[in-house]
Amino acid sequence: MSEDRAPIFAADAGSISAAAEILSNGGLVAFPTETVYGLGGDATNKAAIDNIYKAKGRPRTNPLIVHVKDTQAARSIVGFNETAEKLADAFWPGALTMVLERLDGKLCADVSAGLSTAAVRVPNHPVALALLEKADLPIAAPSANRAGRISPTAAGHVVFSLPGPDDTGLQMVLDGGPCQIGLESTVIDLTGATPALLRPGGLAVEDIEAVIGPLLMPSSNGPDNEAKKSPGMMDRHYAPELPLRLNAEHAGPGEVLLGFGVQAPAETMNLSPTGDLEEAAANLFAMIRSLDGPPFSAIAVMTIPETGLGRAINDRLRRATVSAGK
Ligand code: AMP
Ligand code: MG
Repeated sequence: MSEDRAPIFAADAGSISAAAEILSNGGLVAFPTETVYGLGGDATNKAAIDNIYKAKGRPRTNPLIVHVKDTQAARSIVGFNETAEKLADAFWPGALTMVLERLDGKLCADVSAGLSTAAVRVPNHPVALALLEKADLPIAAPSANRAGRISPTAAGHVVFSLPGPDDTGLQMVLDGGPCQIGLESTVIDLTGATPALLRPGGLAVEDIEAVIGPLLMPSSNGPDNEAKKSPGMMDRHYAPELPLRLNAEHAGPGEVLLGFGVQAPAETMNLSPTGDLEEAAANLFAMIRSLDGPPFSAIAVMTIPETGLGRAINDRLRRATVSAGK
């Protein structure tokens, strides 16, 4: 990797206009959303999409999420059904990504890795929305990090892991401060008879089920019950440099403890001293980054309850422990 890095600009009206111009010309821009920072490119432009896969080192079989400015813009690229309308009404803009059938000729096919479907979302962040409005394009934007590594929740994290304009066409990073949610969006598939969870994320499954009833879960037993596996979902992902040990009570030799709740020792870095899962989600990636290296040889993470955003936190932690190469 060369030493060149994209410049970081405070996200004001001038830099947002400049970023929209870059996107319209097929260049790449990293920008804040409420979930994590995205690496954006014009979802109708094959050269831009090629550069996103290349910049991330992302396998071309792992489709990208398309960001749009509002529900109407989403309806113009994918086929909406009644469930999609209900969910858009309840949760957009927000941390929910819906997989729906693509409409012909609206997106570069590589965005969805050649599938007949596309994943779409309206982000709930003023900078992201201003950028989408200004560019007036569907923007493919996976997390702005190298494939398999931890997602960025601050502008500085982006340039830490992605090379700049010479190598990747990433021309600027818009700085909108730390991400409020701090976990990637929840992805659901609405193309089957029953909506299916593909990835737990920043919108709790319980909130979605309150609107549309039970989702098929990837972990349910039995072929009839099991949600489709999403491409790219089964790999090692979200991984820090150091190994993680889950459900820890204490730090072992060489380990540093990442705590949760009142039961954590007072001097330990704590995802949420009060046991608040939203606070823990917002802190998760930044805290892991800050512990990820010498003098520690591993990070021991205390137990996180498997409810609300805890489901997504545990999903990320588990996938970070999958051995490299799997
Ligand atoms: P990321 O862009 O890194 O947040 O990840 C997006 C994830 O959404 C991918 O890894 C896929 O698993 C899922 N996804 C995106 N598009 C589709 C699609 N058309 N069908 C199923 N899953 C999708
Ligand atoms: Mg990602």
